[in-house]
Amino acid sequence: MDLREIGEFGLIDRIRKWMTASDPALLQGIGDDVAVIEMRDKVLLVTTDILIEGIHFKRSWIDPYRLGKKALIVNLSDIAAMGGIPKYFLISLGLPKNLPLPFISSFYRGLKERAKRFQVDLIGGDTSLSQKIVINICLLGEGGEGDLLFRKGAKVGNDLFVSGTLGDAALGLKILQKEGLMGRPKGLIEKHLSPCPRIELGQAIARHRLATAMIDVSDGLLIDTTHLLKESGVGARIWEDRIPLSRPYRKWINSYSEDPYQIALTGGEDYELLFTALPEARKKISTLTLSSKIPITWIGEILPQKEGFHIIRRDGKEYSPGRLGFEHFK
Ligand code: ADP
Ligand code: MG
Repeated sequence: MDLREIGEFGLIDRIRKWMTASDPALLQGIGDDVAVIEMRDKVLLVTTDILIEGIHFKRSWIDPYRLGKKALIVNLSDIAAMGGIPKYFLISLGLPKNLPLPFISSFYRGLKERAKRFQVDLIGGDTSLSQKIVINICLLGEGGEGDLLFRKGAKVGNDLFVSGTLGDAALGLKILQKEGLMGRPKGLIEKHLSPCPRIELGQAIARHRLATAMIDVSDGLLIDTTHLLKESGVGARIWEDRIPLSRPYRKWINSYSEDPYQIALTGGEDYELLFTALPEARKKISTLTLSSKIPITWIGEILPQKEGFHIIRRDGKEYSPGRLGFEHFK
């Protein structure tokens, strides 16, 4: 069965049955002109991301279940970067008419898996015919006003930290491009297809007031660092040999790049958290590493803006990065 047989409204009816919502503050979910949410004295967080077939994913690489998960993950990561609580999402889909219904039901199963895991409800969307698959999610979240972490709070003398390891997803993509789904190791490919948003970690960093500014690393460490520096009006230095690399990354990087740090510095889609903190917070941050079981690594320091942004290599040589990472239209 494909979409031609059931049509737009047949599809929406099915989606409504697949995805039940339970939040009592949701007065009206799917099925009316708008969704209606009761608001209390909280701050509303809103973020949106688009995934386009051929640009962000290929159907031959990612199965619909993982695609559903990833569509939600990229948005969850933005709420994580604020230290917020994700709550509701809307999804707008552009779909080819010959798309088999099982593709969409698997896609929604992936969505539902992540929605349950991170306690968010689907509350609406839109559906249209399209030549290629287009997925747009708008995710709503909440936070306490004083609890949120912006890109703009970094101060001279702050430490710069990053969670997890870097470059795994980008190396996984390189392996996919060269070897396809049969490529090795599976773990790196999986990091590209199904990353994990740092929701609980972001909330813990915000709740314990450990950071002064935070951003998620979605486009690459260098480029996302420059976003944080620009918004804060500061410079920074990063020690290259402190950048956290996973064991499989270290093992496989030589087959894909002469420079072992290049992909970790510029590759995207790790969805780790990058944050700045006062030196006094170091001890609490290492405690958080232990309790969260997520490595948090001190990779650099914040400088006055006029000193710019440098990477210090292992041999002590400094350079200012040229190509920073991925940017659309470039
Ligand atoms: P409208 O005429 O206002 O565009 P629709 O017929 O597109 O309304 O949508 C009917 C209901 O189904 C709305 O609540 C809308 O939010 C929801 N909806 C439409 N498409 C989707 C989708 N792909 N996933 C989830 N909900 C959807
Ligand atoms: Mg509509």
